[in-house]
Amino acid sequence: MQALVYPAYGELEVREVPEPIPGPGEVLVRVGACGICGSELGSFAARSPRRVPPLVMGHEFAGTVVALGEGTAGVREGDRVVVNSLVHCGACDLCRRGSTHLCRNRQIFGMNRPGAFAERVAVPAAIVYPMPAAMSAVQGALVEPLANGIHVVSLASRNPMESVVVIGAGPIGLMCLQAALRKGAERVGVSEPNPERRAVARMLGAAAAWDPREGGLTAAVMAFTDGAGADLVIDAVGSAETKRDSVAAARRGGELVWIGLHCDEVTLSSFALILEERRLSGSYGAGEDDIRTAIEWFAAGRVQTEPWVETAPLARGAEAFFAALRQEGRAVKVVLEPGQ
Ligand SMILES: [Zn+2]
Ligand SMILES: [Zn+2]
Repeated sequence: MQALVYPAYGELEVREVPEPIPGPGEVLVRVGACGICGSELGSFAARSPRRVPPLVMGHEFAGTVVALGEGTAGVREGDRVVVNSLVHCGACDLCRRGSTHLCRNRQIFGMNRPGAFAERVAVPAAIVYPMPAAMSAVQGALVEPLANGIHVVSLASRNPMESVVVIGAGPIGLMCLQAALRKGAERVGVSEPNPERRAVARMLGAAAAWDPREGGLTAAVMAFTDGAGADLVIDAVGSAETKRDSVAAARRGGELVWIGLHCDEVTLSSFALILEERRLSGSYGAGEDDIRTAIEWFAAGRVQTEPWVETAPLARGAEAFFAALRQEGRAVKVVLEPGQ
């Protein structure tokens, strides 16, 4: 079968690879669509130790079950499915508590096991979700990033969300924006240097979108919130600067959720957290409920993927990946379609 292979640092090519064989408890999924994730673009560019070649990347995917391994009750050939990007063990303390996305033995497609930039991939039957007939495979591939956005907002629902600020209008930022609006945020402001992405954020319902290079994030947020700061600040970039500035952008008693992984160590004011009772949480991936909610929202037509998602055939996967890396064109998100 064909796959987009990452054979060595700096290289990507579509080539023939061996057919995967589903093991016990696994099913073989013919991939209908698989999104290129910002974390994959970042890992490739930075030669990250989180994704070491040779590797087939791809973890945001949906498709059709075409073969069953041994012991796979509840799934049939021909089922259209959305696949969780995380494989959990089901046995550790966190899995037993229902926090399967925090599993101590978690594996991620395209990182710890072969990914879905391929025609077919073997996946545990326990992590597939039925995909409603109303949903396309491309929408199925967008369930994972939407579920990430829903998870971010679910971690921060302790305050009324009169004002929310999203830092970064990449795919995750745009999903956080939509999740915040669907979960009852009154006004969402978006901080993003790229003018095309700011325009997309406004089309998706942002009340304001500004360039943080003009006057800084804090001043823009204070103008947006009449000097109070935001009830919730979501950092979907994760640079040292956005993490530091996100603290001052939250109101007293407000909340911050960090999902961006741009850099690790950071210097910030701990007193601003303590003395004004701001609460900070990290967010990683999505829980099973978040994935179910994302599927429901797509099936009900509540998620907007125009005009920011584009598709490309898997055969042109390397070009599409490099174009996404250079942020060429209007697409914020590129989804590969092996069947095309
Ligand atoms: Zn992803
Ligand atoms: Zn586990």
